[in-house]
Amino acid sequence: MHDIIIIGAGISGASFFFKASKFSDTLLLEARDEKSLPITTNIFAEHNIPYLNEIDYSDKEIFPIIHEKMNYMGAEEDGIVQSSEFGAPFGYVCHTEKLIEKLLKESEEQSGTIQFNQKITKIEKHSDHVEIINNKGESYSSRLIVLATGSHGFDLQRSVGFGTPDRFLGIYTHLRGDQDKINEQMAQNYIFHINPKISGNGPFYLEKGFERIPIGFMGNSNESPKELVLKLDRILAYYKRIQPIIQGLKKDPKPVVTYISKHPIQSFSKDRMMVLGEAAGVVTAFFYEGLLCGVCCADIAAKTVRPLLENNSNFTHDELKYYERELHRILLKNYFVNGEGSEYLFYNAGAHVKTLWSTYVKLINKDKQLRREIWEAYRMHDIENYDLKGTRRAGKSLFSMLPALTKIALSGKFIKAAFM
Ligand SMILES: Cc1cc2nc3c(=O)[nH]c(=O)nc-3n(C[C@H](O)[C@H](O)[C@H](O)COP(=O)(O)OP(=O)(O)OC[C@H]3O[C@@H](n4cnc5c(N)ncnc54)[C@H](O)[C@@H]3O)c2cc1C
Repeated sequence: MHDIIIIGAGISGASFFFKASKFSDTLLLEARDEKSLPITTNIFAEHNIPYLNEIDYSDKEIFPIIHEKMNYMGAEEDGIVQSSEFGAPFGYVCHTEKLIEKLLKESEEQSGTIQFNQKITKIEKHSDHVEIINNKGESYSSRLIVLATGSHGFDLQRSVGFGTPDRFLGIYTHLRGDQDKINEQMAQNYIFHINPKISGNGPFYLEKGFERIPIGFMGNSNESPKELVLKLDRILAYYKRIQPIIQGLKKDPKPVVTYISKHPIQSFSKDRMMVLGEAAGVVTAFFYEGLLCGVCCADIAAKTVRPLLENNSNFTHDELKYYERELHRILLKNYFVNGEGSEYLFYNAGAHVKTLWSTYVKLINKDKQLRREIWEAYRMHDIENYDLKGTRRAGKSLFSMLPALTKIALSGKFIKAAFM
């Protein structure tokens, strides 16, 4: 009988494992093979750090690049935001597989145990413990289970009565090359580009890692994995806007087609069970920020569980509600509203998306206050105090710059977004 069993070794499960294995007998079970954990390169914003402050951020293996410059790329114009205009950097570009590897290793050095190739197919609740069963019929028991299964364990979470978030298919690959060449060709650390011909659901993006650039986009709801692969090939071969950046870099043999979920589910805990990160749809709706949400969920969950464990609790839903309340207070109440408003405007503007995005790019270049607000949002260590006034001010400025016809078409959406 373990104190806690975690299912899933993504950023949410691994960071919770790291925290919980300091004070409990914790077992982490992961479906994948140890050698096949995905290689991922992500923006790790400064605002993530309070939730994972035990890590050495000067470790260049994990955080090889300081994130100082980004490009909200329009059809013709670049919308540049540089941290040096205001002070310290936005955060890091993270080789996330190395961060996870480090968290798992340190957890094992504490009191954690990890087992790979453990696909969990069934959960059975008993009065004083939970039993979980893998696809080979083997079972494990614990006093509490933590689901951190991302977008890949929906059947499992449904089987115990949790809701499931909305799920979208996306694609990415890595382009490889010498770092000097990458630095020469890609001036910014992060390119975020909205182009309705690529996707109506989300951005097309590039990030500058060490000797690698991930490039990807969200798919439209009717697109198959095969269509996404073909579209990525066409973009890499013909999309003029990115050719100077990617020329001469070597593409990984196989792109990764994967799900990403957003729109948080109703309830994040039940008797003896909690759900963390992307499995709970805790990913920001516009930027698809999942690392902040993963580390934040893990931190709050660990703070919830520790005193309960010390008091020999039964981990009732009522006792676990602290986790839900804190998640609402820190992430969902303010910061998520910003993402929901932007998602509503930019991913639902139909024929006007292109004009809306190119006007936003112009606004970024023109409006120092907006650039400052973006910088502050990236850096703030008290994300619970994210101020929606800045978002609404930017919304008004954006609306005022739109051409008359777009204004007429989108005025209702702007009003609704302002009251979200
Ligand atoms: C292409 C792309 C780019 C992104 N870029 C960024 C970015 O730059 N910055 C950012 O903040 N966020 C980014 N995100 C979002 C972020 O990466 C994810 O939201 C986050 O990593 C999710 O972490 P997680 O631990 O919740 O889930 P996951 O990483 O999906 O981990 C879930 C784990 O659970 C395991 N699992 C599932 N079911 C079972 C089962 N039944 N039994 C055992 N194990 C199981 C899976 O194998 C997996 O290892 C990006 C996402 C994508 C797809």
